[in-house]
Amino acid sequence: MASITHVSSVTAVGFTVRPPELLGSIDQADDVSAASIVPRSRRCRTRHTSGVGEADPSFPYTPSVHSDIAKVLLTAEQIATRIAALGREIAGDLERLGPSDGIVLVPVMTGSVIFVADLVRHLPLKLRIGVATVSSYPGKSTSSQGATIVGQLPSDLTGRHVIVIDDILDSGRTIRLLRDAIEAQKPASVRTCVLLRKPTRDAQSTPCDYVGFDIPDEFVVGYGLDYDDHYRNLPYVGVLRPEAT
Ligand code: 5GP
Ligand code: MG
Repeated sequence: MASITHVSSVTAVGFTVRPPELLGSIDQADDVSAASIVPRSRRCRTRHTSGVGEADPSFPYTPSVHSDIAKVLLTAEQIATRIAALGREIAGDLERLGPSDGIVLVPVMTGSVIFVADLVRHLPLKLRIGVATVSSYPGKSTSSQGATIVGQLPSDLTGRHVIVIDDILDSGRTIRLLRDAIEAQKPASVRTCVLLRKPTRDAQSTPCDYVGFDIPDEFVVGYGLDYDDHYRNLPYVGVLRPEAT
């Protein structure tokens, strides 16, 4: 088994940086399976899998993001497959819409960052991205506190085909608020797209052009969705253990 001591490396201010050509050999080493630039004293043995509850208690410094998850609702593979299909559908619709002064995607920060990053790579069209920030579940809230636009919307939407992209449709306030504010700029069209939709009456009665998945009425995290700004980096969508909230 390869060992870190066999590898020449560069040490800068307490960090060990692996030369890229040696990544293969280091990756096989027992002790350094986590990040390559974590200081030795803080290295954790968080397993890089989508498994649930795999924190290693002997490494208390960096708890695994997976360990607070009670169940996985949508796997990374299911999400990837659905987003590819959504991309094909949206691209086809935009091509049929006809001329405009351009296409602008308006992802809602911060929950839709991972979704939009994956979706745009399935949209082989010339387009722009202009973010919007809406606050509705601040901090440790697990129910909507009302939607408010924070800061400025993209200001150049007149005559353009606009698609608002959000992570999840729940009360519908975010989507309605943004649609109204964007329509005031007289775009050529406004469409809305969410990765997830809850089964509540409000969510189902809010018009939305593209929906990735209809999910049960549970507070979900992962794939961009947070609780107290954590868990966005989970590659899947899941439900937290009650003790984690
Ligand atoms: P709405 O305005 O439709 O009530 O909610 C939309 C926003 O609320 C989403 O962009 C998201 O930030 C937040 N939200 C709604 N449901 C959930 C949920 O189950 N989990 C998380 N993490 N955020 C949610
Ligand atoms: Mg949001």
